[in-house]
Amino acid sequence: MLCPIDGRELQLTHREGIELDYCPECRGIWFDRGELDKIVERSKEQLRSRESSDRGGDRPTARHDGSNAPSKKKKASSFLSDLLEFG
Ligand SMILES: [Zn+2]
Repeated sequence: MLCPIDGRELQLTHREGIELDYCPECRGIWFDRGELDKIVERSKEQLRSRESSDRGGDRPTARHDGSNAPSKKKKASSFLSDLLEFG
């Protein structure tokens, strides 16, 4: 399939078990319909699990000296940004 914008051949890639086509030229991304549904479902699941862990209830809030604080900001990125980020 060719990019409708610039006519480049789209690259097929797999991310998180989802197949998608992207254009190396303009970075446009095309999903098959079923793949898009998967992505929507996946991101809903992620939101739900994030909500439930945020409401951890009786989890202690004490943080000691912060030496265990995560330093990797990258890890905080969402499923979607992982999916759509091309090096
Ligand atoms: Zn393009």
